[in-house]
Amino acid sequence: MKGHCHCGAVHWESRAPIAWSCYCHCKDCRRNCAAPVTAFIGIPHDAVAWGGEPPRVYKSSEDVERMFCGTCGTQMAYRNARDTANLHLYTATLEDPAALPPRFHVYHAEHLGWLNIKDSLPRFAGTAG
Ligand SMILES: [Zn+2]
Ligand SMILES: [Zn+2]
Repeated sequence: MKGHCHCGAVHWESRAPIAWSCYCHCKDCRRNCAAPVTAFIGIPHDAVAWGGEPPRVYKSSEDVERMFCGTCGTQMAYRNARDTANLHLYTATLEDPAALPPRFHVYHAEHLGWLNIKDSLPRFAGTAG
């Protein structure tokens, strides 16, 4: 499994299958991605190898760091000190994002009212727990 940023300077590769796949509707991701909603896949930290330019790191809140391409600005990953199991990679960075559809929604309590995603996936008000 591989992914890359828009300009191709930053790429990643995983030796492990994903742990989960979900939408995130939180205000921080919305602002950071400048998009109404984003999606993540969770992959064990030690299974992810970065290639090309190393991603730049932005500390977006206490315990949270977001990694992005320093050239084109594409958001690449999110890591939370409380989640020692998985790195959260943005699904849209995958070479084939269509292959790993989200299975649930998190922070649905913060979703934009005009965004109507018509699916029957589980919706969690906050984290999936
Ligand atoms: Zn880039
Ligand atoms: Zn979020």
